[in-house]
Amino acid sequence: MSCDFIALANTGVQGLHPYQPGKPIEELQRELGLDEIVKLASNENPLGPSPKALAACSAAFPDLCLYPDGSGFELKAALSAKLGIQSEQITLGNGSNDVLDLIGRTFLRPGTNAIYSQHAFIVYAIATKSNGAEARVTPAKDWGHDLEAMLAAIDDNTRVIFIANPNNPTGTQLTEAELTGFLGKVREDIVVVLDEAYIEYVADGSFPDGIKLQKQYHNLVVTRTFSKAYGLAALRVGYSVSNPQIADLLNRVRAPFNVNSLGLVAAQAVLGDDEYLVESRRINSEGMRQLEQGVTAQGLSYIPSGGNFLSVAFEGNTQAIYQKMLEQGVIVRPVGVYEMPQHLRITIGLPEENEACLRALKAVL
Ligand code: PMP
Repeated sequence: MSCDFIALANTGVQGLHPYQPGKPIEELQRELGLDEIVKLASNENPLGPSPKALAACSAAFPDLCLYPDGSGFELKAALSAKLGIQSEQITLGNGSNDVLDLIGRTFLRPGTNAIYSQHAFIVYAIATKSNGAEARVTPAKDWGHDLEAMLAAIDDNTRVIFIANPNNPTGTQLTEAELTGFLGKVREDIVVVLDEAYIEYVADGSFPDGIKLQKQYHNLVVTRTFSKAYGLAALRVGYSVSNPQIADLLNRVRAPFNVNSLGLVAAQAVLGDDEYLVESRRINSEGMRQLEQGVTAQGLSYIPSGGNFLSVAFEGNTQAIYQKMLEQGVIVRPVGVYEMPQHLRITIGLPEENEACLRALKAVL
């Protein structure tokens, strides 16, 4: 090839690396020929999908030849009723990842900057750098976001601040007092993105609720997803709640029909399936205790987590431990790309999956 297309690409894109997903089960099956594989690598819901979501998908199959409702009217109506907000505040995305990307494309460009924390979800880097903006990464404090350092990083060119609560892959959480103290000090022309992908696991009344905060802070954009506690990762449905003007802007860059028909109906169905959500939470909190106790019994420490995963610390070479766990048929997630080379992130599974993971860990260590 005589042409160097990399040299032609946008400067921000040249410095990016493709997102590395968890290893798929089929890949490990092909590589090692194992029958029994436990995947605890992508923060997926181990319950399987809600039966109501499955029924809604079946009912939508005959219409697969039609484009989806590009406005997502019904799902937005269901979300606005559930969350006590207006439909005009909602932007639907192909996963919340899509919405994070829309925010970057709308507000970031060369000469501007976005602030996020060390160890924060990797998509903030992609949304920032792919638009040619400067990434201001502030050092973490106790693995979590150091809000004081984030405030200090603000300058005239700051357009966006990304905060994940709880954060992935650390699971760290910010309190309502910490968040409001921070939001009160951020200029109102800076868009603060509060990524609540895991909020349904921690919503216990004392945990800060971004939707409530959004009513007070109009520069706040809250993102949420149906991929985690709602168990619809394959269908790719997420959304943001913002002031209507920001939602209108995101809507201008949104790809037409970015959320597919099955995703729309399944999300609406699971939103009304309280039983499923309660069960998701129960499985997660019991599994979290099981893993915490299991790794502690093996002399390991972990970062306390508000999500559906636990980042466990190791003294040895985590890449070797990860590889040996694969040989035992257990897929977990190395987090070296998050500057956490001594941790492996383990998604909470069903009790027997957690047990298999702990057994594999014991055999490997
Ligand atoms: N935010 C955080 C913190 C996440 O961990 C993830 C998924 N790993 C996402 C957003 C994106 O999820 P989705 O696109 O499936 O909604």
